[in-house]
Formats: sequence, C-alpha cells, structure tokens
Amino acid sequence: MADVILRNISKRFGTIEAVRELSLAINDGEFLVLLGPSGAGKTTTLRLITGLESPDTGSVMIDGHDVTHDPPGSRDIAFVFQQYSLYPHLTVYDNLAFPLRSPARRVPEPIIRKRVEQTAELLHIASKLNNRATRLSGGEMQRVAIGRALVRDPAIYLMDEPLSSLDAKLRSELRLELKRIQLELGATILYVTHDQVEAMTMASRIGVIKDGQLLQLGTPREIYESPSSSYVASRLGTPQINFLPARLLSDVSVPPETETVGIRTEHLKVGARNGGRMVGRVHRVEHLGEQNHVHLDYKGEMLVTLADPHQQPLKAGQEVELHLVHPLCFDRAGRRIPA
Ligand code: ATP
Repeated sequence: MADVILRNISKRFGTIEAVRELSLAINDGEFLVLLGPSGAGKTTTLRLITGLESPDTGSVMIDGHDVTHDPPGSRDIAFVFQQYSLYPHLTVYDNLAFPLRSPARRVPEPIIRKRVEQTAELLHIASKLNNRATRLSGGEMQRVAIGRALVRDPAIYLMDEPLSSLDAKLRSELRLELKRIQLELGATILYVTHDQVEAMTMASRIGVIKDGQLLQLGTPREIYESPSSSYVASRLGTPQINFLPARLLSDVSVPPETETVGIRTEHLKVGARNGGRMVGRVHRVEHLGEQNHVHLDYKGEMLVTLADPHQQPLKAGQEVELHLVHPLCFDRAGRRIPA
C-alpha cells in the first residue's frame, strides 16, 4: 500500500471555493475519514486525488511521486462510489473479475479466479458468485462494488459514502466488515462521509472538513474529547453536545474570555435539589429503549442529558439541580479555550 500527501490544494468552480488550501497526509495502512456536511468539498477532494479534477494550486503525492499532473488512469487508485455501479447483466463473478480483465492488465484467468474467490470469501458473498448482479439485495450489491475495488489491490482506496444508500442494519454490518477487511489487508483508505457514527467507528483518524477547509485532524477520541472549535464539537456525539452561554453559569469557573460552554450529555448530571445554584426544570423525558433522554429547561436554554438508570425516574415539570462535569470553553469566535 502507499501513502498520499496533499499539499495546499485548492479548487474553485466559478465563485465557489470547493477546496481551500487543504493539506493532509494519509499514512500507509491508515483508515482516514473526512467528515463534513453536504457541500464541504469531500467529493472534490477525492476527485482531485484520482485526477478527475486538477487542482488550481498545490500538489498531490502518492507513494513519494508527484502525480498532480498525471492522467487519472495512471494513478493506482480504486474508487468506491455511493451508488453501486455494477454491470447488471453480468454475474457477481464477472463483475468482480471485470477490473482484472482489461487488456492492459493481461492477468491470466487462473489468477483472476483465485483473486475473485478470495475477495468473495472476504466479503461473504462466495455463495453468490453465479448470481446475476440484479438478483442481489442492496447490501450484497454494495459488497460486490467494494469487492471490485478490492480485487485490484491498488495503492489506495477512495470511498465516497459507500454505505449511505443502505438501511441502518446493513450499514452497521458493513461498517464492521469494512473495518475488519481494512485491518486484514493493511489497506490505505480515504473514506468520506457526513455520518459521525461511521467516522467514530472506522477511522484511525478523522479530518473534519467544512467549506473546503480542514478544521481539525486527529483520532476519533482526540476530536471528541478535545475539539478545536464549537463547530467540531457539534459534529460528534449523539445527542449533540449542549451549548450554554457562559454568563448563565453558576458554581462553575471558566476562563474569563469564555463566551459559550459546551457540555456533552454524559457530562451533564442532574439530581434532586440539594442547595446547588444551577436549577433547571425537566421539560420532557424521551424513552428510546436502551437509553432515555432528558430534556431540560435551564434559564430558557434547552439542554439534553441521559437519564441515570440507577436514579428515580424524572418527570416533566420537576425541578432538578444541574452539575457540569467537564465543560468545554469556547471564545466569541467559537475557538476552544484550553482549560
Ligand atoms: P456531498 O456530501 O453533498 O456530496 P461534498 O462535501 O462532497 O458534498 P463537493 O461535492 O465536493 O461536496 O462540493 C463542494 C462544493 O463545490 C459545492 O458547493 C458544490 O456545489 C461545488 N461543486 C462541486 N463540483 C462542481 C462542479 N463540477 N461545478 C460547479 N460546482 C461544483
């Protein structure tokens, strides 16, 4: 496998700056996830790496070679798209074999057979090899699409929301499988998504991207625990992190320039009134089965926390004391102020 280095790449479409001076190194064997909302520049970044777009400025290096001006075909990259792009009239076997059968490659048929069978085993679709692609479920089709990238054994895999068209159950199954396969193969993957769960569960590192800019790069834990801004903090965590104007705090000391504090749901504790100064009122309790969310009104701000299963159940209208365990402090511009 190989590493990929993007140096200061920018790409503009008319007045839109799709990618802005983005620098990023994807290490050999790494599963790097670019996480960002729609229009953040994720797909454009992938297309710049493949050569389907060329950057206005900056360079793309793959395995130590500057490929910025090389044509797409010459870059040893496999791309998995959001929509499975299979040949419907071909069997699963022939779909998987297709990338190896190009005249330029001249891979002998016995080797093709071996690679196709190995890939099908890895993706748990070995029993479907003789099925027409159209006879598969959505999850199986997407496995074949991923398989078509895997058979080639490229230097790097680029994946553009490959699980987003699947239902929740299949998505979580394939998340686990993709991670397992990546570890087994030691594959280098750049994966883009707007789904924070995919980012948290699969990434060795996450790059948070917005408006074409890389805001923060770090392990899932670093990004979750030490977000560089309130925006980054809001991208990870369900329910979303609570924000509270610092002026409403009592009993909590924060650096003087703090404008807003962020409190993750697990860091907001509620209990019976016992002399504390932060008193809120239960607005609503949502029962989700394995978890209950408690919505609270504190001085007109809505906050959410997780109900403690060992405590007396809370009821709407009840007054409770709030305790903030680990507030994250942000300045007026939303930048994190280290504690
Ligand atoms: P999504 O999650 O919706 O796919 P994204 O993060 O992948 O979004 P991009 O597709 O990279 O975002 O688009 C970034 C910005 O560039 C958007 O504002 C988009 O409209 C614009 N853009 C992308 N490709 C083109 C193009 N060929 N011509 C004009 N504008 C483009």
